[in-house]
Amino acid sequence: METRLFIHGDFFDAAGGARFADIEPATEREIARVASASAADIDRAVVAAREAFDRGPWPRMTAEARGKILGRFADGIERRARELGTLEARDVGKPLSECINHDVARAARNIRFFAAAAETWTQEAAQSDAKFLGRDLRLMNVTTRPPIGVGVIIIPWNSPIMLATWNLGPCLAAGNTCVMKPSELAPLSSIALGAIANEAGVPPGVLNIVPGLGEAGAALVANPQVDAIAFTGGIATGRRVMAAAAESLKRVTLELGGKSPNLVFADADLRLAAAGVARSIYRSQGQSCVAGSRLLVDERIAEDLIAALKREIAKLKVGDPLADGTEYGPLISAAHRERVHRFVAEAVASGAKLIAGGEARKSPAVGFYYAPTILDHVDSKSKAAHEEIFGPVLTIERFASEADAIEQANATRYGLAAYLWSTNIDRALRVAEQIKTGMVWVNSFFLRDLRTPFGGAKLSGLGRQGGRYALEFWTEPKLICLAYGAEDHDG
Ligand code: NAD
Repeated sequence: METRLFIHGDFFDAAGGARFADIEPATEREIARVASASAADIDRAVVAAREAFDRGPWPRMTAEARGKILGRFADGIERRARELGTLEARDVGKPLSECINHDVARAARNIRFFAAAAETWTQEAAQSDAKFLGRDLRLMNVTTRPPIGVGVIIIPWNSPIMLATWNLGPCLAAGNTCVMKPSELAPLSSIALGAIANEAGVPPGVLNIVPGLGEAGAALVANPQVDAIAFTGGIATGRRVMAAAAESLKRVTLELGGKSPNLVFADADLRLAAAGVARSIYRSQGQSCVAGSRLLVDERIAEDLIAALKREIAKLKVGDPLADGTEYGPLISAAHRERVHRFVAEAVASGAKLIAGGEARKSPAVGFYYAPTILDHVDSKSKAAHEEIFGPVLTIERFASEADAIEQANATRYGLAAYLWSTNIDRALRVAEQIKTGMVWVNSFFLRDLRTPFGGAKLSGLGRQGGRYALEFWTEPKLICLAYGAEDHDG
């Protein structure tokens, strides 16, 4: 398969013809040669988006008219659910059923949700009194929310179609135009969105898709014609993006990594907690920003919970992402598998006890598989204890009291999510209030209401996505102040 860039509603090879190889994690073979955007292509894509914003119909349409087109865009995603899901499963290594039933279904929903949210968003007005040139006036202060302009969306490889649409939805529904750069490791489902946008009637230049390496992302961020950047990825890249954006004072939102704790109290429903913790860390092979990679457990139930977790691991159906029933596939690349293993090996060398996994799986024989892993007694100084591994590795810490649990949970630079497992509602709410993360789930893992804020505290990010938070990011609050006479002086 050979793919092309999508600029101004048309498909192009990269200037100079550069391509990169896209490798399928389950087969270790090349599935696509992807046109790799150069600095010149990035410029062209930004000019297309700028022109579409400054002179095109998109920002000038009503939210309702945009909503109709976005509705057709969502229909197109749904019609191609199997095709897009298969592309995603092959490109990322996630189970096909999860790709079709969750990620692609959510992609369509993301678009529909934000189209409706933009259409139903009510603007604010405030009335006040003032004196001007000796006259008593009333002021009608109206806050409008015009789109901010040209948006850049940069996404990682772990959930591409979900993250692409999660960002495109509010950006486009609010009337912006954009340039999106998917990750070089899994760009295929994002690239497929170009043709679907054309069929739906999205005007040329409103959505431009430029797969490329990190340099392409850096060129986008530095481009002076860009107004806002929504970046999802690692902390180190996020820092670079923010520093570059500061040059031209672009608005930035950052969705970064996590080291999210699962706190399991002695009063938890143990079966539910074990299944929930296993899902939180082994879903997508741990390659999820909200992975519950740290288990903090009451020392009195630790051994029982560990035994239950081992049973959960034994039940996991590991295999070909395209095969029926597969729950656990390969990691994204050989390099990432080596990186994950380095964390584990370093922890074991400094005294951690390996309870499960800790090595590449021998079966399937081909593919970047890594066994679901549990590390106990991890030295707090080892990297596995405090850095995001972004793989299927669960570390265990024990606590003796509620206060101890909270202190351990907060002893990290990250602050994306936390999961609490307890049947005591007083405790659950008390602890939830004291955990310094952007999101806390009680007795569940990552259930989403798209209206609620999504994002991280501390080094896990800046800003929030979801519902009105995303619409606020993608719009420029603008005051229009209307003055009128408080009394009739004309007779
Ligand atoms: P990454 O930071 O390496 O890359 C992310 C994207 O940035 C890619 O498209 C990449 O090409 C691009 N990029 C690289 N250098 C750039 C530069 N200098 N300027 C602009 N763009 C540049 O991250 P990754 O390995 O693709 O993804 C994994 C990370 O993403 C993890 O840390 C994970 O936690 C995080 N993530 C966060 C969320 C969230 O919502 N908080 C969701 C998914 C993933």
